[in-house]
Amino acid sequence: MIAMTVVRCRGLMAECAVVASWIKECVRRCPRSWSTDWVGDEMADPEYDAIIVGAGHNGLVAASYLAAEGLKVLVLERLRRVGGAIATEEVFPGFHVPYCAYICHMLHGKVIDDLELRKHGFDLYHMKWSYFQPFFDGGHIIGWRTTQELYREIRTVYDRSLAPPGMHVMSSWSLYYPAHPKDGPWDAAKKQELIELHLEILSQFAPNFRECVQDLTLETPADIERRIGMTDGCIRHLDVTPQQYFSRRMPYRAPVRGLYLCGSGTHPGGELSGAPGHNCARAILRDLEGKAEDRV
Ligand SMILES: Cc1cc2nc3c(=O)[nH]c(=O)nc-3n(C[C@H](O)[C@H](O)[C@H](O)COP(=O)(O)OP(=O)(O)OC[C@H]3O[C@@H](n4cnc5c(N)ncnc54)[C@H](O)[C@@H]3O)c2cc1C
Repeated sequence: MIAMTVVRCRGLMAECAVVASWIKECVRRCPRSWSTDWVGDEMADPEYDAIIVGAGHNGLVAASYLAAEGLKVLVLERLRRVGGAIATEEVFPGFHVPYCAYICHMLHGKVIDDLELRKHGFDLYHMKWSYFQPFFDGGHIIGWRTTQELYREIRTVYDRSLAPPGMHVMSSWSLYYPAHPKDGPWDAAKKQELIELHLEILSQFAPNFRECVQDLTLETPADIERRIGMTDGCIRHLDVTPQQYFSRRMPYRAPVRGLYLCGSGTHPGGELSGAPGHNCARAILRDLEGKAEDRV
């Protein structure tokens, strides 16, 4: 449970106290998922209508919708940057890498339009091939484009600002690895083993791959949890399995009045979509209008 919104109807300080104690209890039970720095003075400050905990994209989307309706919103983030798992960082000097999400394929059009993201510099680089799956026997499955077109396309750098001229960055993502390996926590030796495995596999498709690598880093589930706060490195906060679809995800409305959830653990789930943030903000605004029965 990561992105969370606390809404206070103006003046209901008693309710805030209940929310704060409920949160403190959650912190006590699951200290790895929460930081307590903000529980206290901020909660008692009557200056804000809504407090968003976590500036991942869903928290930011929820904050934007609430602010657009005239609410005074405070966004709290424990990292020095916003964006959560969709941020691009300068991982090596001169090289900017999306540490986690590297493809924007689900951002909701309504969110893009409502928040006027294009006016604020949002743009998409369209990939011109849909899918490429190589096999060890030399075969491959390719999307609707021809192989010749694919070979031309992969030489294209879509965003030249990521790396110095003539250089490239590459993300290699593989599933699944245990958050808690049976033989003990992730350590440098285990990480090196995985790095070697990745290099070996990639070299089977691009023989000079290893020699081309200038620098690399590997993020285990434990690293993702430590850096982003995603418990066990679960990229959608709550796995998207049939038992956890639709209404079986976390509710937007938490069991305590005034406390809402807007992260990927809620419907419709993870990925860079903005939909949980949008839906949660809608639930909040309806509640503030006194339409609590109109469930999102
Ligand atoms: C390795 C990886 C690759 C991925 N690839 C893709 C991809 O290619 N395309 C795609 O669409 N999706 C991808 N995803 C999934 C997607 O990034 C996430 O599902 C989505 O970004 C989650 O957004 P969120 O706003 O709900 O939460 P998060 O991005 O998890 O943001 C939560 C924020 O809350 C902050 N926070 C947490 N606890 C506290 C606290 N106690 N106090 C204050 N702040 C706190 C965190 O620091 C973080 O900034 C990937 C995820 C990972 C990890």
